[in-house]
Amino acid sequence: MSTESVSLLHGRDHLAIPGPSVMPDRVLRAMHRPAPNIYGGELVDITESIKTDLNKVAGNTGKVAIYIGNGHAGWEAALVNTFSRGDKILVLVNGRFGAAWADAAVGLGIDVQTLASGDEFAADAGEVEAVLKADSEQSIKAVLCVHTDTATSSSNDLAAIRRAIDTANHPALFMVDSIASFACEEFHMDNLGVDVMMTASQKGLMTPPGLALLFVGERFWEFQKNADLVTPYWNAQTRMFPQMFPDNFNGTPPTHHLYGIREALDMLLEEGMNNVWQRHRIFARAVWAAVDAWGTGGQFHCNVKDTVMRSQAVTLIRTAPDVGVQLQQHCLEHYGVVLGVALAPDAGRRFLDDGFRIGHMGHLNPSMLLGTLGAIESSLSALNVQRGGGAIDAAASVIAAA
Ligand SMILES: *Cc1c(COP(=O)(O)O)cnc(C)c1O
Repeated sequence: MSTESVSLLHGRDHLAIPGPSVMPDRVLRAMHRPAPNIYGGELVDITESIKTDLNKVAGNTGKVAIYIGNGHAGWEAALVNTFSRGDKILVLVNGRFGAAWADAAVGLGIDVQTLASGDEFAADAGEVEAVLKADSEQSIKAVLCVHTDTATSSSNDLAAIRRAIDTANHPALFMVDSIASFACEEFHMDNLGVDVMMTASQKGLMTPPGLALLFVGERFWEFQKNADLVTPYWNAQTRMFPQMFPDNFNGTPPTHHLYGIREALDMLLEEGMNNVWQRHRIFARAVWAAVDAWGTGGQFHCNVKDTVMRSQAVTLIRTAPDVGVQLQQHCLEHYGVVLGVALAPDAGRRFLDDGFRIGHMGHLNPSMLLGTLGAIESSLSALNVQRGGGAIDAAASVIAAA
C-alpha cells in the first residue's frame, strides 16, 4: 500500500455557503452570450417581464426597482427613498445583518432605536408591540427587520411583527430585508402587510451578486415624496416609472445579469413557489437532523434552539472551540466543499472559531445536500472529532420521507 496520501479532489467543487449560492447551468448558459443591443429588442422586453415575475415571487402588487449593486446597496436604496435626516426608526436586531442595516441608517443620519433579541432568538413581537405602544407621539416612522439573519440563522415571524404594529395601532411603515430568505422561505409581501422589502440576486435568486431589488407597496409613496435623503441616482421613482429604457437603471443596464435573473425566475416559476419553499423546508430539516445526531454528547448544536425560529435557508452550527474552523479547512482542502464561516455577532471580531454555517439555499438537490453533510462527516472522522453517530442516516431519512 502506498504511504502517499491520495487526493480525492475531482469533479465539481460545491459552495455550501449562504450566498453567493450555486449558479444553475441554465443561468450560466443564459448569460453566456455577446453584448446585446441595449436600445431595443429582447433586453427591453425581458426587463419588464423580470419586474412582473419578481413581483409574482414576492407576492407584491406594487412597484419594483432594480439597482446595480449588492445587498448593502439595497439597504441604502430602501433607506434613502423612505427617510429624511433625523427621522426616527426602530430596527429589530436578531444578528449581525439587522445590526448592519441599523448602522447603515445611523451613517445616513437617521435616528435609530434598536431592539435586540439576542443571537439565538428571533424578534419578540410582544416587545415590538410594547415599544410602539410606549411611543405615544408616534414619532417612530418605521419598523425594520431582516426576515432571516444570515449570521445567526434565526428567522423573524413577519406576520407576528405585523400584528404587533397593528395591535399597537401604530402608523409605522413595515420594512423587511429578505436577502437571505427570498425565494427560499415562504413570503407574501401584500398579505403580510410589508410596505417595503429589499433583496439581492445572489442567494435564493441563483444569479451572481450585482442586482439589488427594491419592492414597495402603496404606503411607500407617502414617505418617498418627503424623503430628503434621496439623491437622483438612488431615486426609486425614476426606476419604477421609467420614461425611457435607461431610466430603469439610471444608465447602462446590467445586461448579462438581466439574462441570468430572467432564466432563474423561469426556473422558480416552472418549479412553483410552493414546491420551492417546501424543498427548502425539507433540506433545512435534513441539516438539523444531522446536527442533532452529531450533537448527542453535546459537542454540536444548531445556534437557534427553537425550531420555529430557525431559517430554512441557512444554519449556524456551534461546535467546540477550533472545530468549526478546522472543519471548514478540511472540507475545502480535501473534499472541495466550501462551508460558511461563523460570523461574530459584533463587527469587531469577524469570525468565530467555534462554529460554521451551511447554506442550504437556491439551486440544491438531495445529492448536493447529502454530499455536503457527507463531506462534513468524513472531515470530522479524519480530524478525530468526538460526535454522535447516525447523522447521514438521519438526514437521509428526512429526505426519504419527503
Ligand atoms: C447577504 C445578506 C446581506 C448583504 O448582502 P451583500 O450583497 O453582501 O451586500 C444583507 N442582509 C442579509 C439578510 C443577507 O443575507
